[in-house]
Amino acid sequence: MSLLKRMFGNGTAQKPRVRICVECGMPVAEHRDWCSILRGQREMERAAAARSAQAGPASPAKSS
Ligand SMILES: [Zn+2]
Repeated sequence: MSLLKRMFGNGTAQKPRVRICVECGMPVAEHRDWCSILRGQREMERAAAARSAQAGPASPAKSS
């Protein structure tokens, strides 16, 4: 019975697929420091943060 329980009771037993970075060959959560994709991601994050930080007077007017 424990086997059935294991099969049906635990639907989340599937292993989460780890995406491997094509640049550094590491899981995308663990890029190497030198990975250019990681750098690109960080730059994009920084740009997005800067964009939302400097959301000027135009942004709230648009959203409302
Ligand atoms: Zn990488």
